[in-house]
Amino acid sequence: QAKQAGRNGVRFFDQSMQDSISARVRLESELRLALERDEFELYYQAQVDQRGRIVGAEALVRWNHPNGGCVPPSRFIPLAEETGLILALGGWVLERACAQWKEWQRLPGTRGLTVAVNVSARQFHQPDFCERVAAAVARHGVAPGVLKLELTEGMLLESMERTIATMHRLKRIGVRLSLDDFGTGYSSLQYLKRLPLDQLKIDQSFVRDLVGDGNDQAIVLTIIAMARSLKLEVIAEGVETEAQRALLAKLGCRRYQGYLFGRPVPASELMRAVADGPPGRGILMRFPGHGN
Ligand code: C2E
Ligand code: MG
Ligand code: MG
Ligand code: MG
Repeated sequence: QAKQAGRNGVRFFDQSMQDSISARVRLESELRLALERDEFELYYQAQVDQRGRIVGAEALVRWNHPNGGCVPPSRFIPLAEETGLILALGGWVLERACAQWKEWQRLPGTRGLTVAVNVSARQFHQPDFCERVAAAVARHGVAPGVLKLELTEGMLLESMERTIATMHRLKRIGVRLSLDDFGTGYSSLQYLKRLPLDQLKIDQSFVRDLVGDGNDQAIVLTIIAMARSLKLEVIAEGVETEAQRALLAKLGCRRYQGYLFGRPVPASELMRAVADGPPGRGILMRFPGHGN
């Protein structure tokens, strides 16, 4: 058939497609080996309160590829999901993040620090997912309320009852639940109120143009109002400028994550930022209403 199509001047498999297919196959087999070879690393991005104090961190996986480069998650997470490798990778991330929290507890100023971990759909729907989470939490003595799992809207839509049951079981383990990339899916208020969530994470696409875009302001305001009526905490992601942060604060958002406060960095670097406290009094003075 492809041959026939070729004769008609349409070729289904040209060289560039062939190249991208082999690149994918190569990436997949490298991904398979990467766990064994210990090529993954967790970076952590600060989450801050109104005063710029670090109250938590999101773990973001990095792949240090043997030929020197760092492959971004956008390139290998979807592939890991398709191939099922995400189960092993996700398990490793969970384990590593809990172990890291435990190590951090030896340092001053880390007491209430929360650690957020991204969970993929396949991982969440594993029959023994809750047991795995409970085991990791127990193994490292993670305090209740410290571990946050970041879920996405799409993954919660399938088999609603079972999803809600899993979420309740996770809550009983002492884990908190956050809804990542909020606003990009299809959640209705009706639906949201049934989910035992703790936090909504405003997607960075609404933050990007927030300052100049009245529609984005209206959306963010609506999300915040919705969160308030459901008694959920709100955090904005992708905060890059002080103008964005100030406007978010004005709209009622009190938790922020983004390059303004720090990029994702290795664990030790995050601890340096925790020890240093908010980046100087200069920043603190730009936060209105806090007197210092
Ligand atoms: P996400 O969970 O929504 O994470 C936020 C992404 O935004 C991160 O990209 C982060 O580096 C980036 N970011 C943070 N602040 C800013 C900012 O101020 N400006 C801009 N432009 N970007 C910012 P990253 O690390 O490349 O991760 C991309 C996505 O990959 C994540 O989106 C998440 O969906 C997925 N991911 C990362 N680590 C894991 C993991 O361990 N497990 C799973 N299942 N997914 C992961
Ligand atoms: Mg996330
Ligand atoms: Mg997000
Ligand atoms: Mg995202």
